[in-house]
Amino acid sequence: MTPDDLLKRLAFIAAPHERSAELRGDDAAMDAFLTNGKARFLPVWRQKHPFQIGDDGTATPLILHRVTTPGDAVFLGVVSDTAWFGIALDDAVEQELPAEFRSLTEMLPVLSADTAALMVHARALVIWRANHRFCGRCGAPTRAMDAGHSLTCTNPDCAHRSFPRTDPAIITSIIHPDGEQILLGRQQSWPPGVYSTIAGFVEPGESLEAAVAREALEETGVHVSDVRYVASQPWPFPSSIMLGFTCRATTTTIHRHDGELEDCRWFTRAQVLAGGTRGDPGGDLKLSHPFSISRYLIDGWAHKPL
Ligand SMILES: [Zn+2]
Repeated sequence: MTPDDLLKRLAFIAAPHERSAELRGDDAAMDAFLTNGKARFLPVWRQKHPFQIGDDGTATPLILHRVTTPGDAVFLGVVSDTAWFGIALDDAVEQELPAEFRSLTEMLPVLSADTAALMVHARALVIWRANHRFCGRCGAPTRAMDAGHSLTCTNPDCAHRSFPRTDPAIITSIIHPDGEQILLGRQQSWPPGVYSTIAGFVEPGESLEAAVAREALEETGVHVSDVRYVASQPWPFPSSIMLGFTCRATTTTIHRHDGELEDCRWFTRAQVLAGGTRGDPGGDLKLSHPFSISRYLIDGWAHKPL
């Protein structure tokens, strides 16, 4: 399996729409999009998304052609001549829709790469807005601007502006000095047999490379070097981006300093190649879903020596 084949499996990295940032402050353009009958709205309710379930069990994401509060819509971008928006549903609307609400990761197998990318963009912005209804500086309500891409405090003495935030998190494969083993850990809440790469949030004032080394040491007790960037994956659950790295261990003794992991161990290449996927039956080694950057990092090493 080539690196390109592995990369194609990653969810949320498609870019089907022109984000058209220059149009966000163009009220006339937004009005035209919202009234020409071609706009499409991707609803988000809390952390979930509505799906229509057919009689045969097939699921398709619910896409609205109009909404009652277009001023609350967040402009995502344009595909061909169709403008796409995200929209938050309130509890009353949620109960009226002919849909079932599911998590995006659960429904990934039935979504095209392009649709999944649009839905993840919608949820990132909708959830950000829902979590910033009040000014973080003075506490007054905020008002959306730039087609939903900024929020301004309504207190004229404050007028603080805030923008969508993305929280960087590192995720890294840690390769044994012999090149033939990889360090994986598991959290207590995971199903039996599931192991994954090491991950954690980047702290303020910290470089990505330092975050990789710190998380490796805190979670596994292993010192690392040769930290190299590999790929990234948006992960707005609710607001992260996963920054994927690989690094080489300079020590091999495992000590779980921070207790975040229930277990952590070295796995050989043969063990990894024979491993299953989370959700498979049985108690043997199970790896993250193929759409995740964790699996991308693991398979990238397993199929091709560092
Ligand atoms: Zn304020």
